[in-house]
Parts: sequence; C-alpha cells; structure tokens
Amino acid sequence: MKYRCVECGYGTNSLFVQYSPGNIRLMKCENCKAVADEYIECEIMIIVIDLIVNKPKAYRHLLYNVLGSQTLNFKVLMDVVIGNLMFFATFLLAMRIFLSTSIGSLRYKDIFLAILVSSYFKMCLFAMMVWEFPSSVVFIIDLYVLSSNIVALKVITESAMSRCVLTCFSAHLMKFLVTQALELRTL
Ligand SMILES: [Zn+2]
Repeated sequence: MKYRCVECGYGTNSLFVQYSPGNIRLMKCENCKAVADEYIECEIMIIVIDLIVNKPKAYRHLLYNVLGSQTLNFKVLMDVVIGNLMFFATFLLAMRIFLSTSIGSLRYKDIFLAILVSSYFKMCLFAMMVWEFPSSVVFIIDLYVLSSNIVALKVITESAMSRCVLTCFSAHLMKFLVTQALELRTL
C-alpha cells in the first residue's frame, strides 16, 4: 500500500483518479468510507493551519501521502543534505578568508549554533520544496535567512558588517549553485 487514509490510517493504493488535467476524483477509503485524503484539493494554508493545531489527519497527509512517496522523499532529502554540506564547507572556508582575525577565540561549535539558530526559517523552505511553492517565494525566504545569518555572525564574531556579508553571501551563493546544478541534473 503506497498511501494512507488520513481519517483512519488504512492503507490505499491511490488517492485520486485523474480524468484530464485539473479534473480529478478523490478516492474513498475502503475501511471508513470517508474521502481518503481531502487535503489533496485543499489550499496549502489550510494544511499548515491544521498542522499547527496538531490535527492527526494533517500529519497523516504530510508523513504518509506527501513525504512517504519514495522518489520525492529521496530526491528532496539528497538535495537538502548536499546543499547544506556545501553551505557549511563554503561558510567555514569563507570565514577563514574574511574573518581570520576574529575567529581565533571562538569555538566552531558556537558559530555552528549561531548559523543553525538564525536559519530556523529554513524549516518553511523544506516544507515549500515538498509542496512546490513558486520559486519567487522560496527566493524571498532565502534572502531572509541570509540576512539573519549575517546578523548572527556579526553578533558572535563582532567583526565588520561587510566581512560578515561576504562570508554569508559566498556560502549562500555556493548552496544556490549546487542546488541549481542538482535540479538541472534531474530534469
Ligand atoms: Zn479510512
């Protein structure tokens, strides 16, 4: 069974039948006779709100019917892991180049924590990759994460703003290029 009914968790092979583009019929659950996954036709914001108020069926939709589908899961995860590895590698390298004087007394653990905390908004980015938001929205959030990284780095290293901007920008640029390359490869 590939998917699950969001109401009762019973397994099902398909969630909808597509007659023509944009014309779909939702499948009913064999067990509870309810529509197996009504979220398929819902606005993203409704799913997000249901996740925030901890509705079990919203989690079943996300965990089994969105993330659970193998190909998407693996590809998205690999892209995220490779993108983040390149991000941190470039970040550490850029810090050695631009901030060499000020990192002497700092432990890498502190820097890592600062970047992690200031990137909390990336959680939304991950959700957006899964739900395929327009790329302009992803771009704006990326810019926001970039600016929070710069502020966090400035606070923790107490170095010049321009050097923090250079460090964060090169790491983000590298990550952008790597994820673009990964996307092109799979097209
Ligand atoms: Zn059911």
